[in-house]
Amino acid sequence: MAGQNADLIPPAKPVIGDAEVEAAVRVLRSGRVVQGPEVAAFEEEFSELVAGRHCVAVNSGTSALHLALLAMDLGPGDEVIVPSFSFAATANAVRLVGAVPVFADIEAGSFCLDPAAVEAAITPRTKAIMPVHLYGHPAAMDRLMPIAQRHNLAVIEDAAQAHGAALAGQPVGSFGIAGCFSFYPTKNMHSLEGGMITTPDPEFARTLRLLRNQGMEQRYANEIVGANMRLTDVAAAIGRVQLKQLPEWTEQRRANAKFLDSRITGVLTPPVADAARHVYHQYTVRVSGDRDAAQQKLLEQGVGNAVYYPTPIHRLKPFLDADGKPGPWELPETERAAREVVSLPIHPSLTQHHLERIADAANSLAGAR
Ligand SMILES: *Cc1c(COP(=O)(O)O)cnc(C)c1O
Repeated sequence: MAGQNADLIPPAKPVIGDAEVEAAVRVLRSGRVVQGPEVAAFEEEFSELVAGRHCVAVNSGTSALHLALLAMDLGPGDEVIVPSFSFAATANAVRLVGAVPVFADIEAGSFCLDPAAVEAAITPRTKAIMPVHLYGHPAAMDRLMPIAQRHNLAVIEDAAQAHGAALAGQPVGSFGIAGCFSFYPTKNMHSLEGGMITTPDPEFARTLRLLRNQGMEQRYANEIVGANMRLTDVAAAIGRVQLKQLPEWTEQRRANAKFLDSRITGVLTPPVADAARHVYHQYTVRVSGDRDAAQQKLLEQGVGNAVYYPTPIHRLKPFLDADGKPGPWELPETERAAREVVSLPIHPSLTQHHLERIADAANSLAGAR
């Protein structure tokens, strides 16, 4: 294996370029390092990505989800419908406010929440729906929003993987009362660590601003109980540099996906729903049969790959019931996806030669079924 590593195409490649380093140094030398002018500028610039929504920067994507739920005053007894096929942060945020995550199944094509399953999961205790725009594919907001409206439920979008994705021209993060983004290094853009909450409601935005900073707008004039989830100005400055590059990087991800779609025949390539703009945080194929062997075969050809997520959230230890068993969930598409998915490299740093190697390696899996 060691000999192959020099040649390995990594599954993700975070960018920390000269512009990011210079921005960080400039802010460090300025002395204004925490939630100052860079954060304000980052919020304003990010707003263009989400149809002019109010933007509130925080220190991680998980904090964004947590704060959005806190601002809605959700707590014990309240249920929030989430997909189980996601990163644990989605359901962790629900549990962190003491509310109950209710898991609904996904659609086979998009890997995102199935609106029919969501509707079936609604109870008198349901307060919110939290769709995840998984892998950069927008969830079916055109069908989820009417369900939420009919049942008077809030919608909080987990857009941690989907900066710039859209459905029928409307950007993710502009559908619900809150949209939550992450700027972790492997995401489509980063600020080392960081997150953003977007909202159409100025009062909600004000509550979020209070909650992220000890409940204060004016220093020592605390209005409510709050946390410290502030973003640093160093992180915001790096985020601003990355935000400028995001359109170009997104086009590159989409072009890479188009090439792989056209070349890969050996495994099932990721379907895209009508009117969806997929931003390919991940390029996720399905393999049936022995996935471990398939991953090994890709690796032997120098194609780094990863499984997101091998264990659905409802099977993770903190989400088991009192007997240590998964709850009474019926999530067949979630279970199938967890068994079959493999994500191939799709990041903007790939060369044409890399893409050809990735397609060839994927096609070599055809016989392995
Ligand atoms: C990354 C991610 C998060 C959490 O973001 P952090 O910035 O790592 O806290 C939440 N939800 C999903 C779907 C993610 O991929």
